[in-house]
Amino acid sequence: MSVFDRLDATVAFSAEERMLIESVRGLAREKIAPRAARYDATGEFPWDNVKAINELGLNAMFIPEPYGGAPQSYAAYLECVRELSQACASTGVIWATNFHATRPLVEFGNEEQKNRLLPVMAKGGLASLTITEPTAGSDATGMKTRFTPEGDRILVNGTKTFITNGACADLYLLFGKWSEIEDGKQAISALVLEKGTPGLKVVREEDKMGLRASSTAALAFEGCRVPRANLLGRPGDGLKILLASLNRSRPSVAAHALGIARGAFEDAVAYINERRQSGRRIVEFQGVQFLLADLASELALCEAWLWHVARLVDGGAADFGVEASMLKMRASDLAMRMTTEAVQLHGGYGYCKDYRVERLMRDAKITQIWEGTNQIHRQLIGRSFMKK
Ligand SMILES: Cc1cc2nc3c(=O)[nH]c(=O)nc-3n(C[C@H](O)[C@H](O)[C@H](O)COP(=O)(O)OP(=O)(O)OC[C@H]3O[C@@H](n4cnc5c(N)ncnc54)[C@H](O)[C@@H]3O)c2cc1C
Repeated sequence: MSVFDRLDATVAFSAEERMLIESVRGLAREKIAPRAARYDATGEFPWDNVKAINELGLNAMFIPEPYGGAPQSYAAYLECVRELSQACASTGVIWATNFHATRPLVEFGNEEQKNRLLPVMAKGGLASLTITEPTAGSDATGMKTRFTPEGDRILVNGTKTFITNGACADLYLLFGKWSEIEDGKQAISALVLEKGTPGLKVVREEDKMGLRASSTAALAFEGCRVPRANLLGRPGDGLKILLASLNRSRPSVAAHALGIARGAFEDAVAYINERRQSGRRIVEFQGVQFLLADLASELALCEAWLWHVARLVDGGAADFGVEASMLKMRASDLAMRMTTEAVQLHGGYGYCKDYRVERLMRDAKITQIWEGTNQIHRQLIGRSFMKK
């Protein structure tokens, strides 16, 4: 048993979760992974992967039973993200974004909202977490999207950028500022905007370095009218909802990064055990063994921390923001380093598209940028030790 198999075996999944994870693993390895290079090359949205994921009813795992779900642990969810992302990082993030955008509705929605909106996701809908704006990225509180109350409706005007699933979402969990509240941070509010709302426009889809099959869209909201019934909580509850959703989505993007890192590690190990130079396998050179030791140790430690954070969440911890930041930062830095070294260990072949590591290196880069850049996470972690 390898170090990594033994580590995976320490995670206490229920029998039902193990069955689900086996189905996801089968789908990821047999169907999704073989299509990944084609989707990377064409940049087409992988609808057949989404359909196959929905045939397993996978969204249901993060939706409570009364609304059409079949909830499983956060650990099981993270394992599914990691498996799907190792097979195809674009598909992994498309599915994970459903969780990121739906979870706040589960946590902060009222009964009527949950009864009406969650079944859309349980049946296989797509969702977007819609925060970033052209002039408000790392500092999301600088957002300008405006929510103006108009009787039983809310008028929405603004623009958002870099929105995953943006061109194809059924539900947008949208953040903006309540026009009647003056203080910028206290004005932040959250609502659910449904597909087909007049005034919602997909302005463009980005042509990206990696994750080429995922949709990353710039959106305009021009006089959209949303039922007041779609407001989550009260006007001004948005910042609380935003921070709670990021705490749950950051470990998830770490699982995405670790799927990419695992893929690169496995490919590199397989390659250097085969490839020979100077009459020896590459893995026999001591300099390469030192590198492998560092990469394997960092991967094992990041994966162990992933399961630590999962246990905190499943155990009902109220505050795990610093642990989530540490995980997101280290897992994504590792994904970038691992994929870069995997290309290096493949020599010239690693630079060519015939080998998967070329794609993994491009896919890895975003993990250091989104869900708070790693500079921001270093700031959050460091600041947490500042005495009041
Ligand atoms: C492919 C992709 C998918 C995305 N998906 C989504 C999505 O689904 N929903 C969504 O809302 N957003 C999404 N984003 C947006 C993403 O979260 C932002 O790009 C990210 O938060 C950084 O914001 P920015 O791009 O405006 O960079 P900026 O904030 O302008 O940062 C530029 C540089 O300055 C640094 N910097 C900024 N502030 C500080 C500081 N205080 N201290 C030190 N350094 C600092 C940053 O670390 C970075 O290196 C996505 C982005 C991409 C590229």
